Amino acid sequence: MTKEEEIPDWVGCGRRSCWVSLEILGRGVSSVVRRCVDKRTDQEYAVKIIDITPSDKMTPQEIEEVREATVKEIDILRKVCGQENIIQLKDCYESKAFFFLVFDLMKKGELFDYLTEKVTLTEKEARKIMRALLEVIQFLHSQNIVHRDLKPENILLDDNMNIKLTDFGFAVQIQPGQTLKEVCGTPGYLAPEIIECSMDAGHQGYGTAVDIWSAGVIMYTLLAGSPPFWHRKQMLMLRMILAGSYDFSSPEWEDSSDTVKDLISRMLVVDPRQRFTASDALNHTFFSQYVVNEVRQFSPYRRFKVICMTVLATMRIYCHYRRAKPVTKEVIKSDPYAVKPIRKLIDACAFKIYGHWVKKGQTQNRAALFENSPKIVLLSLAAEADEQGQHGW
Ligand code: ADP
Ligand code: MG
Repeated sequence: MTKEEEIPDWVGCGRRSCWVSLEILGRGVSSVVRRCVDKRTDQEYAVKIIDITPSDKMTPQEIEEVREATVKEIDILRKVCGQENIIQLKDCYESKAFFFLVFDLMKKGELFDYLTEKVTLTEKEARKIMRALLEVIQFLHSQNIVHRDLKPENILLDDNMNIKLTDFGFAVQIQPGQTLKEVCGTPGYLAPEIIECSMDAGHQGYGTAVDIWSAGVIMYTLLAGSPPFWHRKQMLMLRMILAGSYDFSSPEWEDSSDTVKDLISRMLVVDPRQRFTASDALNHTFFSQYVVNEVRQFSPYRRFKVICMTVLATMRIYCHYRRAKPVTKEVIKSDPYAVKPIRKLIDACAFKIYGHWVKKGQTQNRAALFENSPKIVLLSLAAEADEQGQHGW
């Protein structure tokens, strides 16, 4: 039995727990999350195990900090309990060596892994996820709670593919009008004002708007497959964030609507005062143009109109298809990535082969998979090989 599997007392009630902890579901900076089963009911849960063992690695002061942070996390989780898109804390208890936080088990795992599997999401899928995420943010901000670590690794999916926000380790409840100065979060998702705080001790601080910035980064990443701000050198990436320097120039944006780009660009605004709030974002046309699960009365006229429009659209697509220039072997050989279906195939294959290489928390890696400029060295080698082939060497 490992230390993590030791059976502790339930905090506050003295009775012994009767769960067995099983395989690891995920790891964070200071925690391990395992699947576990309550032996009495056979019900499965996820248990977040936070190490507070005195050791060489952690000083007593650091242990005290982890303990305080965990108590804060539990406190916030209890405050937000009941919101349908937030993970439910079922129970928590403490042993001499560990904190145990028991949550509902999300078998479908992280949004991050789902995105890696799908490469990019459609606007329709992104709309469903972003609507739920923004509603969670709206709820948190109405309670003056700032999450501070929104990213696809901290968004879990339930059996019906609904999102559940988790990891309130950096979350904090502020007083109305209060600002924060502490630098925390994940580099690629940091709002410019958080980075400014790390550079300028006299900075006025930041507030709830930092979550909207992160949500903008998530939305961009869901649709493009790669993040808006990235550079191999982290310092240069942080500079790009400070300047709000990103664009919609990658081929993945070719088919996207102007509406979705408009919403993203209103979330990724450097000045937090000019940035959309969660309510502004939810009122944007991107969400209002489609009413989900709308129940409609049957209307013969409307049905007829839909049939006519479908026939017209089919004819248009057919004519367009007939007129489209054929893709020649030369085009495919010289620039396969320029041909959309082949580009999708290449990206999907790259993710199948190198998906495991996309490390959690490292948006850099994901972006690197999308870097598709031909390498000069490889090109010259290929040219050399061609030449040798022609000369029969
Ligand atoms: P940390 O604060 O250390 O980052 P998290 O709470 O984010 O810890 O959990 C780390 C990982 O564990 C998550 O990214 C996810 O993969 C997995 N995980 C956490 N909670 C659950 C859950 N309820 N169901 C399934 N997997 C989970
Ligand atoms: Mg986490």
